[in-house]
Amino acid sequence: MGSITLQNVSKTFGEVSVIPSIDLEINNGEFAVFVGPSGCGKSTLLRLIAGLEDVSGGKILIDGKDATDKAPSQRGLAMVFQSYALYPHMSVRSNIGFPLKMAKVDKAEIDRKVEEAAKILNLTDYLERKPRNLSGGQRQRVAIGRAIVRSPECFLFDEPLSNLDAALRVNMRLEISELHQKLKATSIYVTHDQVEAMTMADKIVVLNKGRIEQVGSPLELYRSPRNLFVAGFIGSPK
Ligand code: ADP
Ligand code: MG
Repeated sequence: MGSITLQNVSKTFGEVSVIPSIDLEINNGEFAVFVGPSGCGKSTLLRLIAGLEDVSGGKILIDGKDATDKAPSQRGLAMVFQSYALYPHMSVRSNIGFPLKMAKVDKAEIDRKVEEAAKILNLTDYLERKPRNLSGGQRQRVAIGRAIVRSPECFLFDEPLSNLDAALRVNMRLEISELHQKLKATSIYVTHDQVEAMTMADKIVVLNKGRIEQVGSPLELYRSPRNLFVAGFIGSPK
């Protein structure tokens, strides 16, 4: 359940090769963090996995099955973006329940799922509010709630905290880690923030110019960076 495998995955935009070739295995239930400088291809890789972009070559397996040609909605994934993209005129309840409404789930079931997600995210008291009456952290939790209601096998996070101030970021980091402990869904979390990578990851994937520099646990990368790039980015100097 929920493993993600990339086999020789590449992506070219026009003439430009953004991802030459990536092989990667993310195990079921793992919290993987893609880290690397701005422009190195983190979002592109996540969008390929989500099916929001087509691969130029290679295969993507989800749960061991070829998902390369599947539509995003058929992949069992939920994506949480940096911009919250909440509907301003809708209540928190309607925002969280929106994906289920689109999927024509009946109202009683939507209410049940929304309330369950709200409980996990400490939003129970805010269900009837509009997004403008929430704090930044609460809004981000609503965005996560909208991902949770579909009970995805995998979560994909693209720099979800980069719009928040430093103190809130620390809080949300802990909340997302706690959420992962509760749901145990395979997660890929993209960030350019080394501290987020080191504190949240089971597995860190260090990317540079569309290539993987190293894959390992935070401790492995810290203790034995493979090269100066990894050392400079994450580890102690080699
Ligand atoms: P990151 O998320 O690590 O900052 P991105 O995946 O957004 O990096 O971008 C990687 C590279 O691919 C950048 O050079 C970017 O300009 C390029 N790129 C991303 N999306 C497109 C696109 N739709 N068309 C052309 N180039 C793109
Ligand atoms: Mg990005």
